[in-house]
Amino acid sequence: MKVTIFGTGYVGLVTGTCLADVGHDVVCVDIDPSKVDGLNNGIVPIFEPGLAPLVKANHEAKRLAFTTDAASAIAHGEVIFIAVGTPSDEDGSADLTHVLKVAATIGTHLARPTVIVNKSTVPVGTADRVHAAVAEQLVQRGVDVEFVVASNPEFLKEGDAVNDCMRPDRIVIGTGSDYAVQQLRRLYAPFNRNHERIVVMDVRSAELTKYAANAMLATKISFMNEIAQIAERVGADVEMVRQGIGSDPRIGWHFIYPGAGYGGSCFPKDVRALANTAKQNGYRAELLESVEAVNERQKSHLFDLIVRHYGSADALRGKAFAVWGLAFKPNTDDMREASSRRLLQQLWDAGAKVRAYDPEAMEEARRIFGDRSDLMLCGDALTAVRGADALIVVTEWKTFRSPDFQKLSLTLGDATVFDGRNLYSPKDLAVHGLGYYSIGRLSHS
Ligand code: NAD
Repeated sequence: MKVTIFGTGYVGLVTGTCLADVGHDVVCVDIDPSKVDGLNNGIVPIFEPGLAPLVKANHEAKRLAFTTDAASAIAHGEVIFIAVGTPSDEDGSADLTHVLKVAATIGTHLARPTVIVNKSTVPVGTADRVHAAVAEQLVQRGVDVEFVVASNPEFLKEGDAVNDCMRPDRIVIGTGSDYAVQQLRRLYAPFNRNHERIVVMDVRSAELTKYAANAMLATKISFMNEIAQIAERVGADVEMVRQGIGSDPRIGWHFIYPGAGYGGSCFPKDVRALANTAKQNGYRAELLESVEAVNERQKSHLFDLIVRHYGSADALRGKAFAVWGLAFKPNTDDMREASSRRLLQQLWDAGAKVRAYDPEAMEEARRIFGDRSDLMLCGDALTAVRGADALIVVTEWKTFRSPDFQKLSLTLGDATVFDGRNLYSPKDLAVHGLGYYSIGRLSHS
C-alpha cells in the first residue's frame, strides 16, 4: 500500500521503516530539513537498536523515501499517518499544535479519498478536531474530498521499538468506518499473521486506551517507589519485597522496579495530560496526581541520599561526581525528562562538578548542556570515575552491572556509590570498602 507518515521521530521513523520492510511504499515527511537531508544520506538521527540498517536497506530498495514536501507526500498516501510530537503544555495538557498543523496541511493538499490515522498520543476528542481542521481547509478550497480520521495509538517502547513494531502485542484501531478498518487491516496484515492482534473500537476509546496503558505502567513504578520509601524507613529491603510480590501472577514482574523515578517523552507527559483531561471533564484524578507527585519526589531522591551522606548540600561544593547513565532508560539516547537532568542540576546548584558517561546519549547531552566548566563528558565509564569523589548510577545500562569494585574503591576519593537503579548487592560493595546507597534498602557508609 502507499503510505505517508508525518513526523520522522521515534514513532514515525520506526513505523515507516517497519511498514516499508514488509513491502509497503512509504514516504516520510518532516518539517526539519536537516533530519530529512540526513536520512536521505543514510544518517539516522536517533539511536534505536536495529533501526539504522533497516532504514538503509529500505531506502536503497526505494520503499522508504524522506521529504519535506508535504504536497507530494499527501498525493502519495492512501493512508496518511500523523506521528508528530504532543509535548506537555504549561498546564499539563497535551499541546496539539503540531498535530493540528499537520491536519491543516493535509486539508490544504488532499485530493482523493484517504484514511488519516492519528498515531500521536492525543487526548480524547482529538480525532474530531483533526477532522474539523482538515474539513476547514477543504471548505476554503471549495473542494469535496472524502476522508476518515481514525485513531491508531502507538505502543512501541524506545530501546526495543523495531521489535515492538514488527511483533506488536496488539494493534488498536479506533474508528466507526468499515472502510478505515479494512484499509488498516490490509496495512497491518503482515504483523497480524499467526494470531489476531487487531482490536477495533470507537475512536474515543482508542484515544483513551493509550493514556490508560501509560498511566497504568507509571502507576506501577510510582507504587514501587512509594514502597521503597517506606522500606527505607522501616529497615526492610525493597528488592526482597519486589521478589515477594512479583511472583504473584496478578501483580507480575514488569514495572515493579524501584529507582530514581521515571522519565522519557511519554510517561510524565501522558500522566499529566490524562489528569488534565479528567479535570477538564469535572473529575479530579487523585490517583494520577499522586503518581506524578511521587515520581517528582523520587527524581530528587538520589540527591537527598547524597546530601544525607555528606551532611549538607553545602558540603558538596567542590566535590566531583561520576555519573553513569544520562538517557532516561537503557538502549536509547533519549534524555527527555530524564532523571539525570534533575540530578545534574541539583549537583551544579550545590557547587559540585559532574563527570558523566552514557553509552549512547553523549551527543544528546552535549546538545542539551553545551560547554560548561562543571561538566566533563567522558569517553567511557572508567574515565568518568577517575578524579571523582563518588559514583552515581542513574541509568541501568547492562555495561554498568558488573564493575570492578576493587578499582572503584581505590579510584573514588570518598569510596562511595549512590545507585539509583539497585544494580548491586550491598554486601559486594561492603566487602570492597565502598559506601553504598541504593533505593529502598539499608545504606552503609
Ligand atoms: P519526536 O519528537 O521524536 O518526533 C516528532 C517529529 O515530528 C520530529 O521529527 C518533528 O520535526 C516532526 N514534526 C513536527 N511538526 C511537523 C509537521 N508539521 N510536519 C511534519 N513533521 C513534523 O516524537 P516521538 O517520540 O516520535 O512521538 C510522536 C508521538 O508519538 C507523540 O505523541 C508521542 O507521545 C507518541 N508516542 C511516542 C512514543 C515514544 O516512545 N517516543 C511511543 C508511543 C507514542
